[in-house]
Amino acid sequence: MPENDCLFCKIASGEIPSTQVFSNERIVAFKDIHPKAPTHLLVVPRKHIASLYDATEEDRDLLGEMLLVASQLAKESPNGENGGRFGFNCGPWGGQEVGHLHLHVMAGKKL
Ligand code: 5GP
Ligand code: ZN
Repeated sequence: MPENDCLFCKIASGEIPSTQVFSNERIVAFKDIHPKAPTHLLVVPRKHIASLYDATEEDRDLLGEMLLVASQLAKESPNGENGGRFGFNCGPWGGQEVGHLHLHVMAGKKL
C-alpha cells in the first residue's frame, strides 16, 4: 500500500536510491542524507504509516521489530557498543518533515 508521492515509500521500493544497510519483508533501513552523527540511520516500515500518531494496534509487532532492528544496527556500527540515540519526530511540533514513519538511529560519538 505505497502512497503516491511519498519519499520514503519510494525509497523503500527502490524507486529512489538510498544507501541501504538493512532490508527484510517489512522494514528497510538506510543512511540519512544529512547525518547528524557518525552513524545516522533511518529505520522505515515498508507499509505507509504517516506518523507515530497514525500507528494502530495492528502495527504493534511492526513497531517492536523497528526498535529491535534499530538496536541491532546501532550495536553493530562503529563505536556503537557505547550506546546511541533513537527517536521518532512526530507531527509539526515534533519536527517531522517526511510524512512516513521513521525511527532515527544515531551513534558513533557522545551525543
Ligand atoms: P524528520 O525531520 O522527518 O524526522 O526526518 C527526516 C529525515 O530524512 C531527515 O533527517 C533528512 O535528512 C532525511 N532525508 C530527507 N530526504 C532524504 C532522502 O532523500 N534520502 C535520505 N537518505 N534521507 C533523507
Ligand atoms: Zn510512505
